[in-house]
Amino acid sequence: MSEMSDNSTANTGSSREKINLLGLSHAAMATLLERLGEKPYRAVQVMKWLHHRMVDDPACMTDISKKLRQHFSENMCIAEPEVIEEKHSVDGTRAWLMRSTSGGAFETVFIPEENRGTLCVSSQVGCALDCQFCATGKQGFEGNLSAAEIIGQLRLAIRRLAEDFPEKGRQVTNVVFMGMGEPLLNFDEVTTAINVMMDDLGYGISKRKVTVSTAGMVPAIYRLAECTDASLALSLHAPDDELRSRLMPVNRKYPLSEVLKAVNDYAATLGEKRTITIEYTLIDGVNDQPSHAAGLARLLANTPCKINLIPFNPFPGSEFRRPANIAVRAFQDRLIRAGYSATVRTTRGEDISASCGQLVGKVKDRTSRQKKYGLDGEQLIAVSR
Ligand code: SF4
Repeated sequence: MSEMSDNSTANTGSSREKINLLGLSHAAMATLLERLGEKPYRAVQVMKWLHHRMVDDPACMTDISKKLRQHFSENMCIAEPEVIEEKHSVDGTRAWLMRSTSGGAFETVFIPEENRGTLCVSSQVGCALDCQFCATGKQGFEGNLSAAEIIGQLRLAIRRLAEDFPEKGRQVTNVVFMGMGEPLLNFDEVTTAINVMMDDLGYGISKRKVTVSTAGMVPAIYRLAECTDASLALSLHAPDDELRSRLMPVNRKYPLSEVLKAVNDYAATLGEKRTITIEYTLIDGVNDQPSHAAGLARLLANTPCKINLIPFNPFPGSEFRRPANIAVRAFQDRLIRAGYSATVRTTRGEDISASCGQLVGKVKDRTSRQKKYGLDGEQLIAVSR
């Protein structure tokens, strides 16, 4: 597997003027420090201060020279995204609504389970792909997040959880790019962030535990295979082109045959019996019938995969309904009988609207009500309760 892309000149910052050090890979950090006349081992020291000890002020980096600390303070920054709102669910799920440097709101969600803790990060503010069943898609596209803003989500979650549960140790074990946005449309920033997540000088998360979820951006899947061996998930949601194009307009550009070939080729580069995750949102009366399950089983016959069934989570303005539990189980049973590993994703954080795009949607609703009724912040919170 070749090295991850090195975006030392990419947009790494939470500030236009200052480079945000959180968005630099080890290689980019070494290049930056070399330009400043520093020895290569300095990059190791600085990475540890940033991602292991999580300092926010270069002045705390006591084993680097005063001159370099001063240079960092004057010309660079260490900045996690600003938190607009943090919500805690009764089931332990946490959701953060954050502000990007461009001013748009995006979400990060932490989902604790018995043996792992999964952080769902956003890669973009909004999304351009307009999948019909997705709250984020309905909000449109506002911009890309920088590598620093993506890493900032992970760093912030690790810190906040450690503050609240110091006895538990690090709780984030897995990262999935299943928050807002299509990660492969923000390729360079996302692959840089993956590099830092997997690097032992960053967060040391194993390749199996970082998952990029895509709607099927075919050329970018091939590019991804050249620069990382992270796990891959495909948002499929339909067993044929006609239905998929209706639910996911991107399918008109990259039809199923091309998407599955790209995904299978990606799986082949991973080797080691690793599989692709297929995500399938079950929508009542739309894609949840026995014929759809049979079609899905045929379609995936040559794809090494496990299937994750997600009962549709209704959001305001959506025309779709969630299927009955019995229909979800029947769909799952059909896939299992056809020889697939198929699980049903339990809804988590329902009381805090933790599903992708719903928190931002709520805030946008509040903002438009604020404009409409001329409410101030306090009144707004009262109204939204
Ligand atoms: S499902 Fe993913 S790709 Fe589709 S609109 Fe939502 S965020 Fe974008």
